[in-house]
Amino acid sequence: MTGQKLIIFTDIGDTIIDESTEVRKVDKGVVYHASCIPGARETMISLYESGHTIAMVADGLKESFRNTMEENGLSYIFSARVISEEFGVEKPSSVLFQAAMDRLGLTEADKGRIIMIGNNVERDIAGAKRFGIRSVQLVWSKRHPFQPTCPEEEADYRIHHPQELLDLVSRLEGELQRKKA
Ligand SMILES: [Mg+2]
Repeated sequence: MTGQKLIIFTDIGDTIIDESTEVRKVDKGVVYHASCIPGARETMISLYESGHTIAMVADGLKESFRNTMEENGLSYIFSARVISEEFGVEKPSSVLFQAAMDRLGLTEADKGRIIMIGNNVERDIAGAKRFGIRSVQLVWSKRHPFQPTCPEEEADYRIHHPQELLDLVSRLEGELQRKKA
C-alpha cells in the first residue's frame, strides 16, 4: 500500500461504543443494542471519508459487533474485522494485531503508519506497543484499566474525546510527510 495516510486499528468497547449502554441477551451474552460515545461515530465516519483504512481489533463476540455496528451505521467503515471469538485469544495477544495486518495486506514496513486506538492500557496500549505500533488512548471511561502501571502501558498519545482524533491524525500525517521529504 502506498500513500501517507495513517492506518487506523481500533478497539470498540469504550472506544467507539459506550459500554454502559450495552444490552445483552441473557443466554449467550451477545450485545444486541448499544450507543456510541458522543462524537465517536462522526469521528470514525470522518476518518473513513477522508480515505483512511480502518480495521476493528476487538475482544468479544462477532455477533455483538455485527449488531452494534449495524445499529449505529458504522458497518461499512471497516476494511477488516479482527474479533477475539474467531481467534480464541484476546488482546494484548499479537495474534490479533498481526491478523489485522494480514487482512489488510500490510507488511512490517507499514507499521510506522498504523495507530491503535483503545481505552484499555493492559490490552490495547500494551498490546500495540509490544507489537511495534503506536497507540492512542481514549481516556473516557473508568470501567477498565486506564491508568498505566508500567512503561508498556503508557500510550504514545492520549485524548479525552473522540473528536480529538481528527487533529491528532492530521498532525501525525504531517510528521510522516516531513520524514519522507
Ligand atoms: Mg475497550
